[in-house]
Amino acid sequence: MSLVNTKEMFAKAYDGGYAIGAFNVNNMEIVQGITEAAGELKSPVILQVSKGARAYANHTYLVKLVEAAIIENPEIPIALHLDHGDTFELCKSCIDGGFTSVMIDASSKPFEENIALTRKVVEYAHDHGVVVEAELGTLAGVEDEVNVEHGKESYTHPEEVEEFVSRTGCDSLAIAIGTSHGAYKFKASQCTRNAEGILVPPPLRFDVLHECIKRLPGFPIVLHGSSSVPQEFVKMVNQYGGNMPDAIGIPEDQLREAAKLAVCKINIDSDIRLAMTATIRKYFAEHPDHFDPRQYLKPARQAVKDMVAHKIVHVLGSDGKA
Ligand SMILES: [Zn+2]
Repeated sequence: MSLVNTKEMFAKAYDGGYAIGAFNVNNMEIVQGITEAAGELKSPVILQVSKGARAYANHTYLVKLVEAAIIENPEIPIALHLDHGDTFELCKSCIDGGFTSVMIDASSKPFEENIALTRKVVEYAHDHGVVVEAELGTLAGVEDEVNVEHGKESYTHPEEVEEFVSRTGCDSLAIAIGTSHGAYKFKASQCTRNAEGILVPPPLRFDVLHECIKRLPGFPIVLHGSSSVPQEFVKMVNQYGGNMPDAIGIPEDQLREAAKLAVCKINIDSDIRLAMTATIRKYFAEHPDHFDPRQYLKPARQAVKDMVAHKIVHVLGSDGKA
């Protein structure tokens, strides 16, 4: 199988009540960990590349790593997606360079400007068989070059979604219902604490999601910033010399609920970063004499694979859907 776009993936996910995981890739071990898990579980998967990943690893290296993953996992559909494209030129460069899906994120611009830029990307993308994700509403948090202060985020206004989708022709829409980028998704003041002193975040705004679904029947919705920041990995980081106080994510049961509805793509990045870093920290602490990168990258790659397998089965529900 060659790279596919997400049209058929989303249509099946919408009808089947599950979501496709979109995992960010930056190097070989991450590509391998994600696609080995998806391959073994017969799950479709989206590999996504941010502007920062492209700057770090180089466009050609990333595309070739993904091509290798397709050869190694011929029985699952894999899409290659640009995460948070911020200009027409960046989207065009990815479309010309082999991506099958791009996001144009003009959500920080006024409504009319968001429509105009998204429309321009859609026209170019559709001429090349590539699909486009757009965004309405703003998530808090930090992801590569996207940085929105807590308190400056805004939920998607459901009354805008029909006009936006019909005027832009976008293929999927990222909305803001309370997910957030990074490993510190909420300030302590926004949360309560449970008996163990662990922060409990405010619930996702399912009312906003339902309003959007009502206005866009059959249309794929996307959730960004949907890592759950598992506390066992935060603990592991802190136990082995790290310092991540009050790192907090979105509870997995809420994401599972969203995946059963119109949410067809769920973005997960921080949990992969966290699993790799915790594993490498532990390895260094336990093997201070080792210095071969393969020694610590091998368990790190396994940690990525285990994390993705867990997400596919327990959050996305996409296992066996390839
Ligand atoms: Zn995002």
